[in-house]
Amino acid sequence: MNINFLRWLKMDLYKKIRNVPNWPVEGIQFKDITTLCQDAKAFKEAIDKIAMHYKKMKIDKIVAMEARGYVFGAPLAYLLGAGFVLLRKPNKLPYKTIEEEYEKEYGKDKITCHIDAINPGENVLVIDDLLATGGTALAAARLVEKMKGKVVECGFLIELTGSLHGREFLEKNGYKSWSLLQIEVEE
Ligand code: AMP
Repeated sequence: MNINFLRWLKMDLYKKIRNVPNWPVEGIQFKDITTLCQDAKAFKEAIDKIAMHYKKMKIDKIVAMEARGYVFGAPLAYLLGAGFVLLRKPNKLPYKTIEEEYEKEYGKDKITCHIDAINPGENVLVIDDLLATGGTALAAARLVEKMKGKVVECGFLIELTGSLHGREFLEKNGYKSWSLLQIEVEE
């Protein structure tokens, strides 16, 4: 199917994403998903379309990043009949954790996960709201592999295409990615 036709089919979803220039720092075009989430029809359409892409894959667990990753990861896990794993910022999880440091589009950060969140050999899907440089998703994928899980794919509501090369970065590190919406940015 023609790529422009596919994009046109999803035009209502694209329109629901608010662009906030220079937030949280100068030069970042922040893609605000709250405007999509607070619209019942758009939110359902987005979740259903992501679920459609994954419904034929065998997925045991979905891991998602605090906090916007949960918004898409949890309903997706429910629809796919998969377990849901919460990745959190340091000092938030109550039990024993493992962690991974990563570079973000605007600064450094760390994610943590309970050490028993993934069983060896489980097929795991990494979900986040947005792919920019790929650093967050790579850290999530590495945490999964530290627990001997198999990363099936990294999935996103939005992929920033253009100068950030997140998809290529993940691919270079051995991970496939997929996104429902693609937005070109010049940063
Ligand atoms: P990255 O690790 O560079 O791929 O950044 C992705 C993570 O940072 C996701 O969890 C996003 O929520 C957040 N993020 C990075 N850049 C943006 C942006 N321009 N708009 C909205 N969220 C962003």
